[in-house]
Amino acid sequence: MDRAEIDLLFTGTGAADWLADNEPVRAENGERRLPASLLVDGHVLIDCGPGVVEHAASLGLCPQKLTDVVYTHGHPDHFCVSELQRLACAHASRGTLLTVHAHPVLRQDIDLVEGVVFRPVLPGGSLCFGELSATALSANHQGRTRDEQPLHYVFSKGETAFLYATDGAWLSRDTWTALLQMHLDAVIWDATTGFHKDDARIFEHNSVQMVELMLGAFVRAGVLKEAHTVLLTHLARTLCPAQADLVEALAGTGIGPARDGMRLVLAHNGQ
Ligand SMILES: [Zn+2]
Ligand SMILES: [Zn+2]
Repeated sequence: MDRAEIDLLFTGTGAADWLADNEPVRAENGERRLPASLLVDGHVLIDCGPGVVEHAASLGLCPQKLTDVVYTHGHPDHFCVSELQRLACAHASRGTLLTVHAHPVLRQDIDLVEGVVFRPVLPGGSLCFGELSATALSANHQGRTRDEQPLHYVFSKGETAFLYATDGAWLSRDTWTALLQMHLDAVIWDATTGFHKDDARIFEHNSVQMVELMLGAFVRAGVLKEAHTVLLTHLARTLCPAQADLVEALAGTGIGPARDGMRLVLAHNGQ
């Protein structure tokens, strides 16, 4: 792969209501979204909720190739101790420890897992995965406890960069100030409430309308490159239309709904 390219594979694009008794469920139309997670360059996994290891294998997730797991926060659709143990066991064949990056509040649970090394992450912190690196930013989202600060991440490789912003609603002033120094190729945004404007979850998740407003500000401020990609994830089963209807409803907006198994290769285009 070219040094400036970042390979993304959506190993889950659903919100918590795609789980029942900690198992992925299908919608009435047969669609399924695994808990929101993203595989970066085949070896860094962002979040891993219940069912991701088993079901995402068919989408292209190869746990043996993972080097790092990065958590946005400790809600059960993103963080699951037994799933992390499965990843660590698969990784053990490499003879090295799986590195796990998360807010310090999650350490107690991560320490229960054998075969991992824990790296604490706070807003403003830097993470390094070889050629790939990431910066953590604070997310507007309630953590599992009052002490936990959920995180967004800007991943970059050379001039290529993307923001992974779920779970969370409007960006904090601190996060926006940090983003003003960046020049992104893509944003992957929480759009939990779909086109519902008045669902109370907008206080810690986005609607499509909120994403449209933030996208406009990103473009106007030059935070996004001229040629950019904006994808929605963490889509709620009970609030969002079916994938085909979402694609149709978003036509012409410059925003697309991600789906499980979607692959995207980002490359710096010189703009
Ligand atoms: Zn969630
Ligand atoms: Zn959450």
